[in-house]
Amino acid sequence: MKKERTPIHGKIPSLGILSLACILAAAAAGECVVSYTFDDGLEDQYTIAYPMFREAGLPATFFIIGSKVGDPNGFRSKAEKHTPVMTWRMIRDMAANGMEIGSHGWAHARYQNMDREEILDDIRKNQKELKENAGIDCTSFASPYNAKRGKDGTDILALVKEEGLSGCRPHQKAAGGGMTAEKMNEMVEKAKAKGDWLIFMTHGMSRGYDAWQNPDELRRHLEWVKGQEGVKVLNFSEAARISQNRGR
Ligand SMILES: [Zn+2]
Repeated sequence: MKKERTPIHGKIPSLGILSLACILAAAAAGECVVSYTFDDGLEDQYTIAYPMFREAGLPATFFIIGSKVGDPNGFRSKAEKHTPVMTWRMIRDMAANGMEIGSHGWAHARYQNMDREEILDDIRKNQKELKENAGIDCTSFASPYNAKRGKDGTDILALVKEEGLSGCRPHQKAAGGGMTAEKMNEMVEKAKAKGDWLIFMTHGMSRGYDAWQNPDELRRHLEWVKGQEGVKVLNFSEAARISQNRGR
């Protein structure tokens, strides 16, 4: 896994279901932080994944593309064709029930082909729409296509920080396709041994890009992870704060 730690600045996110003392304790060696992130706002993340997290009493972060919200055919690619995207009502429901809503940019544009001003417009537009439609002061960001730089060399992480967001997802491990609970459990054990921050990334739960062959594997993994000593499950913005505290 590429190690690019994300220092954070700006807004202090809400602490969700864990106390501040608990979060700071998570930085100790031999423990790990696990964050579950979902990209593109696909509808089955709401209908399938969100109930699993609620049932387990664990948080997750959903990175939303404002321009696609509510679109029944949100994606045009072969893999994602006719994959419906969740509505603002669904987003508000998740936010009201302990899930973090993050930004994945307004248009899911390829920032690597855009200059600083164009990228900034796209980031700001999504912040504005998330606020207006869901009342969310979004603090977390996942760069579309995980782009790190614009065509003029703009550092996207630095830009996101300048805009007052808490951080830009620095690395991720895909969870989808043929992933199993056992494989995810193993990844958590490895992260724990290294005192690492493990960030899972999921797109489709039942259809669309890299969809799970058996979504119930995620539920089985969550049942396991919530009972693990030394494993803190935090949403992205909370984990980004620890990352800064650890100076990594
Ligand atoms: Zn995406």
